Amino acid sequence: MQENAVYTCAYCGEENETFLDPGGGQNQEYVEDCQVCCRPNILRVEYDDDYGEVVIWAVAED
Ligand SMILES: [Zn+2]
Repeated sequence: MQENAVYTCAYCGEENETFLDPGGGQNQEYVEDCQVCCRPNILRVEYDDDYGEVVIWAVAED
């Protein structure tokens, strides 16, 4: 299981690295400020147990 992941900021399009917490549940959602533009991205994380994959994407907070 990977312990970090890269997402693309929903505002400025820059890549950010975030640390994952697999113990936090199979589907997670949390807010993290972009390291480049400092705006809040809502990160959605889904773990796929069958394949050991993590899907992460960022959406803009409205
Ligand atoms: Zn940004």
